[in-house]
Amino acid sequence: MLAALRGRAEPWDIVVIGGGATGAGVAVDAASRGFAVLLLEREDFGKGTSSRSTKLVHGGVRYLEQGNVSLVMEALKERGILLENAPHLVHDLPFIVPNYSWWETPFYGIGLKIYDLLAGKYGFGRSRILSLDETRELLPNIRQDGLRGGVIYHDGQFDDARLLIALLATAADRGATVLNYAPAVALSRDADGFFNGVNLVDRETGEQIHAKARVVINAAGIFADEVRRLADSDVRAMLAPSQGIHLVFDKSFLRGETAIMVPHTSDGRVLFAIPWHGHTLVGTTDTPIDEPSYEPAPFEQEIDFILDTAAQYLSRPPRRSDILSAFVGIRPLVKAAGSDATKTSALSRDHTIHIDPSGLLTIVGGKWTTYRHMAEDAVNHAIMLGHLDDVPCATRDLRIHGYIASERSVADPGCPYRGEDCDPLLLYGADAAAVRALAAADPRLAEPLDIALPILGAQIVWAAREEMARTLDDALARRTRALLLNAAAAARMALPAAGLLARELGKGEDWVDEQVAIFLKLAAQYNVGAGASAEEGQSPH
Ligand SMILES: Cc1cc2nc3c(=O)[nH]c(=O)nc-3n(C[C@H](O)[C@H](O)[C@H](O)COP(=O)(O)OP(=O)(O)OC[C@H]3O[C@@H](n4cnc5c(N)ncnc54)[C@H](O)[C@@H]3O)c2cc1C
Repeated sequence: MLAALRGRAEPWDIVVIGGGATGAGVAVDAASRGFAVLLLEREDFGKGTSSRSTKLVHGGVRYLEQGNVSLVMEALKERGILLENAPHLVHDLPFIVPNYSWWETPFYGIGLKIYDLLAGKYGFGRSRILSLDETRELLPNIRQDGLRGGVIYHDGQFDDARLLIALLATAADRGATVLNYAPAVALSRDADGFFNGVNLVDRETGEQIHAKARVVINAAGIFADEVRRLADSDVRAMLAPSQGIHLVFDKSFLRGETAIMVPHTSDGRVLFAIPWHGHTLVGTTDTPIDEPSYEPAPFEQEIDFILDTAAQYLSRPPRRSDILSAFVGIRPLVKAAGSDATKTSALSRDHTIHIDPSGLLTIVGGKWTTYRHMAEDAVNHAIMLGHLDDVPCATRDLRIHGYIASERSVADPGCPYRGEDCDPLLLYGADAAAVRALAAADPRLAEPLDIALPILGAQIVWAAREEMARTLDDALARRTRALLLNAAAAARMALPAAGLLARELGKGEDWVDEQVAIFLKLAAQYNVGAGASAEEGQSPH
């Protein structure tokens, strides 16, 4: 990738700043239209928000309640398109809205029928009202007292960081140059004051490189205002960042394969409890914050809120000591004029395209689910802005890297996010055979790195060789999801995984020590349940 960057004297058609869902989507769209594309990521791909979502490819039942029908329809269409193009990564997941009041069954029953209707030909399974017995059977761990029944509906589930890597591979397969650890640090201008390039730094060597560009697209998510200030230090902030946390528990808290959706928590948000990679994911909160950062920590009141709310719906209330990991993401919400900054859950999830007077195109907001549509919109604008050839968008039917046809996605909901009876390498799609071959060639790579998680040494080697993993955090938080699933297990894996990476990347013992030390500190931040069992006076499960 660096050689491709250094070797190009002529301008790139499009330089994308930011390697999250939005930037990767733009790179795929632009490269598949035949444009010369360079994507720059300051940290690792997905280190920002795009590896920290609730992992739902969804229309957003809540936005329907808010009356934002067009956003829901667009997202439902994109959900269907993504299932078609990436069946190795996206799966149908049944959700139940449990009903405890007489009015909830007809209310949510009708609402979810409308949700089905809006999906049209892109529909997943149909929604239906469940009897009390059916609800109990599908959700064996739901709180029983006062339960009247439920409404079942369907949405999509995915692995956000794995889809991101697959998108970047798709872009690279079509000729894009994508670089992590390569921040854009300045923008250059032509004689008329319009942007005509980006100065970047190769963080591993400190080398400064200038890349000429016809159009620069700012897809820096929560850092988009910071990138806009590279162009004009006086610009007014577009974003109102708000953080959301997820707590991860073991599978026993949600024994079935069906997720729970609580449409109205006490703070007016939606709460999900979802089976994911053989664990139970519960989230999320919505807390306005002042400044974006890469490793935001959960607030104590957010942890308490999720534990308390989950306890209202689960027959075995999760305790602090049951938390295996807590991860936090920041939403790049676009400020609405006159909006109430203390209530970010009311801000729009629509995306916004903004073009600064000197030609910097910023695309922010939206959601993971709609990345393809956002990218199409951004590239259409870039074509006008940069006088590029008017080539139509080609991503509607573009198969995402690793694509293999899969009957399983609908017939066997949740798989491979189930974790135990499903092969975790299924997420690699067509690449799974090559990962398995690595394991077959070296029995040490065929072993799980820790007994608590089915992550193989072969996946770490593959991450370094084929997926541009450069640090232990890249390998254990995003190429595999160890850190998000079980922070203590991820910490135990740190030394063997760093050894494998060092061998692949030609690094020495000092590098291993440094990587392990950095990672253990990070894992301690995610391990918010550590030490709680003594305080609770009980042993952990
Ligand atoms: C808690 C939570 C739950 C969510 N759940 C869902 C969900 O279930 N489904 C859904 O559809 N959506 C969900 N979303 C929304 C979705 O995750 C985001 O909309 C999406 O990930 C934003 O992607 P992005 O690429 O715009 O931003 P990011 O992923 O943050 O990417 C921006 C990137 O730009 C890079 N960058 C910044 N400055 C520079 C620079 N100078 N040079 C180079 N690179 C730079 C950053 O390092 C970062 O990696 C959720 C969001 C949150 C916070």
